[in-house]
Amino acid sequence: MGKRGRAQADSGELDLSNEAKPEYTKGPFGMKRRKRVPFSERERIGHEAPGTVLRGPLITVDCECGEKTELHYGDRWSCPNCSRSYDTSKIPRDQYEKIRKIQFRYRLLPIALGAVSISLAIFFTLTGNVFAVFVLLPSALVVWFMLLRPPHRRGFDKAISDLPTWDLRAESE
Ligand SMILES: [Zn+2]
Repeated sequence: MGKRGRAQADSGELDLSNEAKPEYTKGPFGMKRRKRVPFSERERIGHEAPGTVLRGPLITVDCECGEKTELHYGDRWSCPNCSRSYDTSKIPRDQYEKIRKIQFRYRLLPIALGAVSISLAIFFTLTGNVFAVFVLLPSALVVWFMLLRPPHRRGFDKAISDLPTWDLRAESE
């Protein structure tokens, strides 16, 4: 048995099971109330760690002992349980770049949509048509979350799932 761990590029948007379920508390008159979550604990849009855009998607490392972590490409990590160490720069650069490109391509649509909405909002504000801004921005959000995001996300998941997982060998102690 070799000492091997598995590494897989994690998209950030990939994990659907991770989504926080709303918690309810009983309010006055037995009404269901959604529990407030402090802003700092709320989900980030796209569930991403800061720096993901510039440094590329995170790599999930599953240590042989069951410990898991997420690393940036090029990071080294020593498992706190069994002290095996892993070096993500052992992953072939070209394979990692493929994942990075897919992630980037799928990120362009929301960025483009956002840019267009903001440009239009600025345009309407400057031309004195503030009413249009109040209609336009909510509409853009609704269109994105209701219509465009689900198929966009499915396409992304499929593109990512076609990609390989790597066997990242633990370094000898
Ligand atoms: Zn371990």
